[in-house]
Amino acid sequence: MSLTERPELFIGGRWTAGSQTRQIEVRNPATGARVGSAALASTADIDAAVEAARASFDSGVWADAPPEERSAVLHRAADLLEARAPELARLITSELGCPIWFSERAHVPNPLRNLRYYADLAKDFDYDERRGDGSNTSLVTQVPVGVVAAVTPWNGPLSTPTLKVAPALAAGCSVILKPPPETPLSAYNLADALSEAGLPEGVLNIVPADREEGAHLVNHPGVDKVAFTGSSAAGKKIMAACAARVARVTLELGGKSAAIILDDADVDKVVPALLPMAFMVNGQACIAQTRLLVPRSRRDEFIDAFAQAIAAQRIGDPLDPATMIGPMVSRRQQERVEGYIATGRTEGARVVVGGERPHLPPELAGGHFVAPTLLADVHNSMRVAQEEIFGPVLAVIDYDGDDEAVAIANDSVYGLSGSVWSNDEERALAVARRMRTGMVSLNGRPQAFGSPFGGFKESGIGREMGPEGFRAYLETMSIAVGS
Ligand code: NAD
Repeated sequence: MSLTERPELFIGGRWTAGSQTRQIEVRNPATGARVGSAALASTADIDAAVEAARASFDSGVWADAPPEERSAVLHRAADLLEARAPELARLITSELGCPIWFSERAHVPNPLRNLRYYADLAKDFDYDERRGDGSNTSLVTQVPVGVVAAVTPWNGPLSTPTLKVAPALAAGCSVILKPPPETPLSAYNLADALSEAGLPEGVLNIVPADREEGAHLVNHPGVDKVAFTGSSAAGKKIMAACAARVARVTLELGGKSAAIILDDADVDKVVPALLPMAFMVNGQACIAQTRLLVPRSRRDEFIDAFAQAIAAQRIGDPLDPATMIGPMVSRRQQERVEGYIATGRTEGARVVVGGERPHLPPELAGGHFVAPTLLADVHNSMRVAQEEIFGPVLAVIDYDGDDEAVAIANDSVYGLSGSVWSNDEERALAVARRMRTGMVSLNGRPQAFGSPFGGFKESGIGREMGPEGFRAYLETMSIAVGS
């Protein structure tokens, strides 16, 4: 099976041409060169995928299979994917444009780890609990939520689908996965690996499609739960669609995360550790630390250090292992990011470094590059501080005292991620606890694998990863079993 030519959809355990599907060309965002092609599903194809998922769920072929069996299929699929890891990393970088080192270290290993984590959890989970009150006993049992529509964005072409597919399948659900048109290819490897691993027909269906067909899917009465990752704007529409039939919904949405640098932090430690957290996936990451909150007394020192480090970032072909910053995923995204830089200038922000298209060799002339950019003199009320830019653009905002830093960090409709930087661990933790956000890092440390991932406020509802991410695919049922 070609990794790059995918003219058919995966429905009911078969590759099918579908009906009125559209063929699109996938282009490398760094060069404009053709990577491959994929079919985009029509609403009729979405109906067929829901029907296949519904039939497989209602038959009990997977939902009623012993958890050990589900676990074994997920483990086998992870092994099959691992055998293809180098090709997968190249594929992800070719369709998304993120640096190859990031695909190798995150975009490929994380899905494998998630498949294995949920394979083990499916086996070890306590689904049944007997609860008695002295007179009566109930069996409180956890059952699969049903047919799941997983709708994913382009910035984690294999990892975001797996964050939904792995726990959903582990719980016994049937899934329709809808990847976006920008990056339709990588997710198909889940179909290849899971069907080879023995997943029954119809339990996983993959139908890349555009927004309109995505809306058709989330509104479909055959769908019991929607698991969505994407923009807050789309998330609100999807939540409203789910409300109409009280479908279950989890939302992983946008962010505008604050890095609070306390006044005792060491500039030489902060800058190199913080920049990769800000420029992850070329700045197109929901958890990117994009508001840099610096103490007013040390503002110039930090601006200079960030500017120097940003100017030294190597921009170029993301397939080159030395590249730190690649292109935006599309022309549309490039123009959106450039539009925000222009807005920042109009609002009175100062472009310290970047702000324009970088000078690159002729073979990258067709790429959608934006130079990494540092904006200073930013006030938190400006649009560049409030709205998600989703590109390599950082805003420095100064503050006086820890209370003001926390107030600025929390003055956002978002609350996805954040970080606190200090030489005093206890002080950093005390500040972190006051942040209204789902995930905080102290001094750039990564989260432990299995920690819940998700946001406060308009950054979403529910959590992925860990046991929380598994419970999101279960319904609780009480059966009165006697006295
Ligand atoms: P988007 O919301 O435009 O699209 C995401 C997906 O939803 C795509 O598959 C799209 O086709 C589909 N879609 C859009 N509108 C829909 C609708 N009304 N009904 C059904 N489906 C619909 O987002 P994008 O531009 O592809 O991705 C960038 C956004 O995703 C950013 O805001 C980013 O912060 C967010 N994101 C969040 C997380 C997280 O875990 N919190 C992770 C990655 C990206």
